[in-house]
Amino acid sequence: MSSSNHFDILIVGGGLAGASLACALRGSRFRVGLIERQSPVLASGWDARIYAISPVNVAFLQRCGAWDHLPRERIVPVEKMDVRGDAGGALAFSAYECGLQALAWIVESGRMAEELWQTARRQPNISVLCPASPVALSIDAEAATLRLEDGRQLSAGLVVAADGVNSWVRTQAGITTEMRPYGELGVVANFKCEKPHFGTAFQWFRPDGVLAYLPLPGNQISIVWSTPEAHAQELLALGPEDFCARVAEAGGQQLGSLELVTPPAGFPLRWMKAQTLAAPRLALIGDAAHAVHPLSGHGINLGFQDAQALADVLLALPAFRDCGDVTALQRYARARAEETLLVRGATDGLQRLFRTDLAPLNFLRNAGMNLVGAISPLRSVLARYAAGLF
Ligand SMILES: Cc1cc2nc3c(=O)[nH]c(=O)nc-3n(C[C@H](O)[C@H](O)[C@H](O)COP(=O)(O)OP(=O)(O)OC[C@H]3O[C@@H](n4cnc5c(N)ncnc54)[C@H](O)[C@@H]3O)c2cc1C
Repeated sequence: MSSSNHFDILIVGGGLAGASLACALRGSRFRVGLIERQSPVLASGWDARIYAISPVNVAFLQRCGAWDHLPRERIVPVEKMDVRGDAGGALAFSAYECGLQALAWIVESGRMAEELWQTARRQPNISVLCPASPVALSIDAEAATLRLEDGRQLSAGLVVAADGVNSWVRTQAGITTEMRPYGELGVVANFKCEKPHFGTAFQWFRPDGVLAYLPLPGNQISIVWSTPEAHAQELLALGPEDFCARVAEAGGQQLGSLELVTPPAGFPLRWMKAQTLAAPRLALIGDAAHAVHPLSGHGINLGFQDAQALADVLLALPAFRDCGDVTALQRYARARAEETLLVRGATDGLQRLFRTDLAPLNFLRNAGMNLVGAISPLRSVLARYAAGLF
């Protein structure tokens, strides 16, 4: 195999998790290949996929060289969070009361992907291989070998699966998963609203699911409505005016009437956990490693933290150590175990708690919200947790 086909690290999947890992390894001694079947596409208007990025991940994206290049006029800091239960429960917290500049930053998926790709393309130690898809993977004591669709054969000390929830790499490596569909879709859309949002993110735990309003620049918002499939299909089939009316009504007319800016789209929600994040010459990151319910907004935040933790382990290796050594990779898996367990468990628990019709639970979940809301230190702890600060 020619030396140009040999890499230290091959990352399969150039979504946000994979591209951020490549960028976190920029300027290092590692020769990195990023394999992706299609480059990111920038939406002409507003992206349908919008994320609330936690402050720790803003710092990570700064380290990746991407954050400071994002267009400021398209980013909004979340200054307050207002959460409502389905029977009078309420909980509100602000960045100010916990000494933060923002609880999170609202950013479009496509813009982040574009900036990460531009950063990756500028690096002499990173090769972006796109369009490209692997068709065969073999791993032995010497190296991992990937054959691409176009016949090219690549080898590496380490292959990273960053190829999403249906990961081809994970399947080829024989890593099993526990997967449980929620039977819900996340319905996403962007709107102009009548009243200002003042940088507030709203969330309603409703009998028909969880509805979130995220602030966009100006009087605009992005929504994620996680709701049972039949209801989601009914919403997606509505004409623009009826859809706006339903979303405004479900949000208690909090921001007045709504006008559609980006047509609604739905994505299936599932809980998924890979049996392991590390094996000899293999590591899993992002949705290839785990999928969570979007109600806590942790999806891509977990993926970025995976990328950061794996980059930290790799960069700390002495030059003589093999980057595919499973004992080193297990350090990465251990570093991620606690947070992913906590987030998966907490979001899953909340989702189940608010999907049950049992009257005592209905009372408890709303009373619990009011209790937390009334105790300032507890509220502040929750806010700092939501901001990813511990
Ligand atoms: C419409 C929509 C809206 C969403 N909204 C939210 C939201 O509001 N909040 C939230 O938390 N999450 C949301 N999600 C989920 C969120 O997008 C994912 O958690 C996140 O994108 C995971 O990033 P990732 O890089 O791990 O995987 P992905 O984004 O899935 O990236 C995987 C990459 O690998 C590439 N790839 C896959 N297989 C191969 C292969 N064989 N060869 C080469 N390349 C390959 C793909 O092309 C892709 O670019 C949404 C998803 C969708 C579809």
